[in-house]
Amino acid sequence: MKTGATDKPRILVIDDDKQVRRVLLDIFCDVYNCCEASSGEEALTVLAQESFDLVLSDINMGGMSGLELVPHVLSLSPDSVVVMISGQSNIETAIEAMHAGAFDYIMKPFDIRHVEAALDRALKQRQLLTEKRRYKDDLEKLLLERTAEVDRLAYYDTLTSLPNRTLFEDRLTQAVSLAQREDKKVAVLFVALDQLKKVNDTLGHLAGDQLMQQIALRLKGCVTESDTVARFGGDQFVVMLPEIERTKDAVDIVALIQETLSSSFNLGRQELFATASVGISFFPEDGKETSSLVKNAGAALYRAKKSGGNEYRFYTADMHVKASKRFELETSLRHAIDNQEFLLHYQPRVAIDSLKIVGVEALVRWQHPHLGLVPPLDFIPLAEETGLILPIGEWVLREACRQNREWQNKGFLHMRVGVNISARQFQQQHLAETVMRILEEVELGPEFLELELTESSIMSNAEATIIVLTKLQTKGVAISVDDFGTGFSSLSYLKRLPIDSLKVDQSFVRELATDPDDAALVMAIVSLAHTLRLRVVAEGVETQEQLRFLRLLRCDEIQGYLISRPLPVEGMEQLLAVPSRLSQDAVRV
Ligand code: C2E
Ligand code: MG
Ligand code: MG
Repeated sequence: MKTGATDKPRILVIDDDKQVRRVLLDIFCDVYNCCEASSGEEALTVLAQESFDLVLSDINMGGMSGLELVPHVLSLSPDSVVVMISGQSNIETAIEAMHAGAFDYIMKPFDIRHVEAALDRALKQRQLLTEKRRYKDDLEKLLLERTAEVDRLAYYDTLTSLPNRTLFEDRLTQAVSLAQREDKKVAVLFVALDQLKKVNDTLGHLAGDQLMQQIALRLKGCVTESDTVARFGGDQFVVMLPEIERTKDAVDIVALIQETLSSSFNLGRQELFATASVGISFFPEDGKETSSLVKNAGAALYRAKKSGGNEYRFYTADMHVKASKRFELETSLRHAIDNQEFLLHYQPRVAIDSLKIVGVEALVRWQHPHLGLVPPLDFIPLAEETGLILPIGEWVLREACRQNREWQNKGFLHMRVGVNISARQFQQQHLAETVMRILEEVELGPEFLELELTESSIMSNAEATIIVLTKLQTKGVAISVDDFGTGFSSLSYLKRLPIDSLKVDQSFVRELATDPDDAALVMAIVSLAHTLRLRVVAEGVETQEQLRFLRLLRCDEIQGYLISRPLPVEGMEQLLAVPSRLSQDAVRV
């Protein structure tokens, strides 16, 4: 192989006749940058590594023929121009060579001027090809740019560069079908600026446009990549939140949007404050189709605007009432600990035969400044969902233990205080340590505390729960399973759990005397518990008849209105001071 200067056109000469190659190379090396190959196979190896402007190839060679070679050459190096040389001077071979993809054909013995002329033409063809390709590339690029521009105009808002209505509806349609498959919600928030008309009228349209651009940026900052913020023109933006779990997630975004918009906007030298009204609709509740979701979010927006601006409304009025109540409740719950709004009521738990108090259960109440005394079932689920149960639960635990210590100091009988623990508290890493620390702080012996857990909270992470409970039981803290019978405890876990008692749920106690199935169930629970050496406590005992049945069924302890309702500290102290009142006044057996 021989190579010459680099700026000359490159030519590959292929011939199995060394003589021919030498002659051709000698003649052309001044004009061309020449390479040679002695067979079709060798030529392919060379072509795989470098490209050539021209390929001059013999037809009849040992091995691969020149005609077979041409398609390979063109596929390896599409811009090369091939000229064939052959000893056969018939027209058929020439035609065959052209069919194979060659550009020209020279016959042996060749006149060198013919060869030069053929290579000249081939080179021109090569230049033509290059120009054609460049032109095509330019054209394609231009076309792409134009398409992008057309797309931009068709799918994006020119002022804010946000997706426009068409693109938004496209994306919403996709999100809805995905949500349908995955059983999820999609929220559509229709956001409208309350002051655009005023800005346009007083500061001019340019300022209005600037304001819309700044709002677009802020809105985008409130959502994630998978959400879409679009502009529907005028003062209207629409936000789509695909795959949300709860109504509250949308409300959180609305709150974020309103907060983000609340800081001032700079329009030239003018500082301006803006607010937005928001209308919200949900898939699937408020519509199954794109158009109805957008329309209904628009209807909700209208209501939000009518109520004075800077407000949000759900399409479903009922949903709005629920969400705003919940929002208010959550806000006030956050301050309830600091404001010392929680208090504990205590309900005695008595031995079934003697009716002597063996313990009390601490039941939390929330003294809400406006709503009055809120029962736990109205705020514990919310506290669990928001994580507020952790500080609340810790407060309950400390207060119940402190109170029990105080009662012991006052000389009231030594009894256990039962404290309800939520599943969420169990997911804390250091629950056992927290409990032990509190006991130490208030100087209460661990044997005077009992933790009440529901079956579902135990089962949600049974293995981890067993470890924590074992730690606590080793220290002497008692453990009971609350609302027993309503969950799905696995018997095998029940055997392994370090528990002391089962509290039969009040739903079974309620119908005990009238429903034989419930009686049979309680009997089965009692015998199972006794086999596992656990005590059985019946909850919600309200009547003498229930008490009689429970005695028959060999239940160990009871708790319920028959004995006493949950009482504030003073009431409980009166009961503790005169325990005999229980059996005389409350229970006439
Ligand atoms: P629970 O632990 O099963 O508590 C027993 C509930 O039954 C209490 O309702 C009590 O007032 C009520 N009750 C007692 N005797 C009777 C009766 O004879 N008849 C009827 N119908 N009801 C009776 P309360 O105080 O409303 O508490 C409800 C639930 O809230 C509790 O059920 C417990 O799961 C939860 N809870 C209460 N305090 C706390 C707490 O400090 N932390 C946690 N995580 N949950 C708590
Ligand atoms: Mg309980
Ligand atoms: Mg219970």
